[in-house]
Amino acid sequence: MRTLPSAYLKQHEEDRLLRGHPWVYNNEIGRIAGTTEAGGEMHVFSSQKRFMGTGIYSPSSKIRIRLYSSSDVALSEDLLRARIHKAIAIRRDFRNFEADCARIIFAEADGLPGLIVDRFAGSDPAGVRGSWLSVQFLAFGMDSRRDLILKLLSEALAPDGIMERSDAPVRKLEGLEPRTGVLLGSVPKTITITENGLTFRVHIGEGQKTGWFMDQKENRASVAVHARGQNVLDMFCNEGGFSLAAAAAGAQNVVAVDASFDAVSAVAANAKANGLEGKISTHAANAFEFLRDEKASKGPYGLIILDPPAFAKNRAAVDGALRGYREINVRALKLLGDGGTLATFSCSFWISRDRFLETLEASAADAGMALRYIQELCQAPDHPIVSGYPESRYLKGFIVKAEKR
Ligand code: SAH
Repeated sequence: MRTLPSAYLKQHEEDRLLRGHPWVYNNEIGRIAGTTEAGGEMHVFSSQKRFMGTGIYSPSSKIRIRLYSSSDVALSEDLLRARIHKAIAIRRDFRNFEADCARIIFAEADGLPGLIVDRFAGSDPAGVRGSWLSVQFLAFGMDSRRDLILKLLSEALAPDGIMERSDAPVRKLEGLEPRTGVLLGSVPKTITITENGLTFRVHIGEGQKTGWFMDQKENRASVAVHARGQNVLDMFCNEGGFSLAAAAAGAQNVVAVDASFDAVSAVAANAKANGLEGKISTHAANAFEFLRDEKASKGPYGLIILDPPAFAKNRAAVDGALRGYREINVRALKLLGDGGTLATFSCSFWISRDRFLETLEASAADAGMALRYIQELCQAPDHPIVSGYPESRYLKGFIVKAEKR
């Protein structure tokens, strides 16, 4: 065994790690032996001195150590290269790299804690085909190895440009400043991508998150099946992924709502580019206010999509978030016609599937509706869910038909 600083857990804190969970919280550590280094490797032992694995030390985060292996291996160039190649190989099974965008690396779920990489395949504004990466270094270990990671990504994927989008608030929790900018090559202001046969102009430098919510790709197709002939309301539409899918699937009309003016402008542009502008109207509005003011009497909706941002960004926010989910689900159910379809999502990893389901059940009771569960959804397969790490199942969704009780 190599000589590394070691963390010894408090008594009975090892069970989660034994099941494969990759995080050691600050308050679970009993004592540390040796000199720690921010971003450096560390051994983790149980209180009984049983070896748990090797992780990366992050001095100011509550997630003090992120395990990357259950054995004693160095986080070397070879290991990083092997993990990146494996992550790419997994995606190649179900994504066509010529045509499709894909999340290439999903942090802990790919054994690369705190590293997120999305690959955009598409055309630049002049119509030239290319591929570009949007990367986020969200934890210390990956941030301190950024040059090596960029080199390995370039080697593996030969992108035309790499954009850094390390502006997610979680970076603060690690004690890291936000960082954005072009790291390699050039990145066009807009990239036209194709998803489920529709084109979208995405902004990887400015859009939310890494520019496009790739995790909903398959779900957009699953939800669109229920749109034919319906009045559709797409709440939290961002740049129109669900709206366009619904319109193309034969919706009578689609109302797309988002608080971001830039997002709804992008919806309008995307609708036009796909010849769907006649079917989609957009509103820049706060969803809570919009749902409160919208009157079912105007004509009920046949399909409502609720895809809000993560209401719970940490454990302390869970109760408030559940109230938020309940409010929007009750209001949406009341705006649905009898027999209408609700597609409702939560992407808060702090809220489990079961708690979300309980909230949906409570919302149905409040709204006086009975639900028939048509389909349960989760994130797209390029955002893998791994055993022992329930937080990797972060996107939960249900398609339900609602009937008046
Ligand atoms: N459905 C989208 C992704 C939604 S992401 C897709 O398929 O791509 C969440 C969206 O909610 C963001 O676009 C954000 O601007 C918007 N949002 C956040 N808070 C909001 C609020 N209170 N009211 C309306 N929109 C909100």
